Amino acid sequence: MPPINRRTLLAGSALTALAGSHDPAGAAAAPAEKQSPGIYRYKIGTFELTALYDGIWYRPITDKFIRNAPFAEVENALAQAFMPADKLTTPFTTLIVNTGKKLILIDTGTGGQITPSAGALRDNLVAAGINPKAVDLIVISHFHPDHINGIKDKNNGLLFANAEIAVPAPEWNFWMDDTNLQAAPADLKLTFLNQRRIFSDIVRNVRRFDPGTEVAPGILSIEAPGHTPGHTVFAVHSGDQSLMVLGDTAQHPAVFARHPDWQAAFDIDGDAAVATRKRLFDRAAADRMLVTGYHFPFPACGHLIKTATGYEHVAAEWQPKL
Ligand SMILES: [Zn+2]
Repeated sequence: MPPINRRTLLAGSALTALAGSHDPAGAAAAPAEKQSPGIYRYKIGTFELTALYDGIWYRPITDKFIRNAPFAEVENALAQAFMPADKLTTPFTTLIVNTGKKLILIDTGTGGQITPSAGALRDNLVAAGINPKAVDLIVISHFHPDHINGIKDKNNGLLFANAEIAVPAPEWNFWMDDTNLQAAPADLKLTFLNQRRIFSDIVRNVRRFDPGTEVAPGILSIEAPGHTPGHTVFAVHSGDQSLMVLGDTAQHPAVFARHPDWQAAFDIDGDAAVATRKRLFDRAAADRMLVTGYHFPFPACGHLIKTATGYEHVAAEWQPKL
């Protein structure tokens, strides 16, 4: 049989037949004109996990975006990943863990307060049949606005009215320190002020945990500093299965897994961010562990393999059954 290329395909009988076909009902279907809900479910042992899409931000970048690589190399990496040249493609995926005893949300999305193309978490919770009031515990990886703003709506109303909020103690200690706020450059001051908006009137609901401890049965926190001083990741264990919840250890893997040495302008300590990334990615690759990354393409779970120059993310295959 000759190989099928575009020319033979166009000349082939299949397409000719198609061109002559018509809708037997004779009616045009109305276009949906909106995306379907962003929900993906999977299991770790007996825990049921639900990845919920909050949206995407095409974050503008400049030639200062990567501190330790020429911008031409960055542009080349973006082009190879089919991404726009002057923006970082930044999707957001939150994770619900139903342990059977507790309903736990890990990171909370943007709350619709960062870009018009994100803020879908609330609708996707509804579509997934999850009542925000039923969430018992919110676990936070770090205090950047795309991870904490979903705690509240634009008018500072609580979205998860009954949830306790567990935050890494080193993250709290860094950002809630007014001396650090005063010393920060102007753009970072906005980040400090946003954290005070989110947390100052709900301190009684906030539990500070030390990385290395369990935040809930089956969810172990692991220190992962660099992106922020108290950035923390989580290992979810149930039965003989595990998942590493990587937070912002790397943002989009097509950029930062392939180039693990790159230090982004938004990493507070670039050297530490790179060391953390390699430590966790090496472990995940060696153990062939399932991982999820907050800024990985939806549904954000898959595996990491080590390559000659970095790592490659292999997306999980959609499973029709849990
Ligand atoms: Zn983030």
